[in-house]
Amino acid sequence: MRFAYTVAGKVLDNQEVVSDGRDKGRDGLTNLALIRRKSRRIIAASLATAACIAGITLFSSSAQASTEPGLVGKRIVIDAGHGGRDGGAESADGKKEKDTTLAVANDLAILLRQAGAQVYLTRDTDTDLTKPSDLGHRQHASLRARTVYTKAKRPDAFISIHCNGSPSPAWRGAHVIYRDGNEEAKALATVMQENFRAYLLPTKRTIDDTSTLYLLRRIGGPAVLAEIGFMTNPQESAAMQTSPYRQRIAFAIYKSVVEYFGQVENAKDELTPATP
Ligand SMILES: [Zn+2]
Repeated sequence: MRFAYTVAGKVLDNQEVVSDGRDKGRDGLTNLALIRRKSRRIIAASLATAACIAGITLFSSSAQASTEPGLVGKRIVIDAGHGGRDGGAESADGKKEKDTTLAVANDLAILLRQAGAQVYLTRDTDTDLTKPSDLGHRQHASLRARTVYTKAKRPDAFISIHCNGSPSPAWRGAHVIYRDGNEEAKALATVMQENFRAYLLPTKRTIDDTSTLYLLRRIGGPAVLAEIGFMTNPQESAAMQTSPYRQRIAFAIYKSVVEYFGQVENAKDELTPATP
């Protein structure tokens, strides 16, 4: 739930935003090398996409992906929301957000590592990152610990994973949040939202800018918070309890990271004069 990440415990509403904030498409291939690089990216993504759609596990030894050139050496921090005493949002049948976010974070880490990225998880167990002495301000201490950990890693990208919750079981749909004014984060959020639309249960939601979320206020660059679905929506909650759907979410995020760094590389190439 996003409210856990607001400053001073302020609860935000979860209404859909009206602006979709999509970036304009890019064009302008300038040379063969660029075309080849693009092709490699597309092929890698297409293979993984086909595997995902076909229901083939992406995590078996036979499906070991080759490295993704744009991801090799990239430092990526994945933050599984909540943990420990902080369960986050809860489904009607008592399933906790903290367990779903951790499972997706671990699946995402596998995909990114297979592709050659250096992946760091703010947590890989059921903990909220606090110390016993933090009693009384655990939520803030947890957020601060995640921030300190993330900054120390000097990440090329930061992805915080959360599930949503609402008073009404009818509310549904994954969406991505970024800090208002952070263009790199907006670019990653935009491509991730498109992949959520393509691969996850139907969502009419759009990217959402914010200026209040604790982590996104403090972590720059392509830093986003992915709300992967509503624990309080019966269909989404049930799906998120299954390994195949969680892997699908992980894949959608993974593909977004690949595409984001592809965009960055292409933008650099387009700024470089083509040799005659
Ligand atoms: Zn949350």
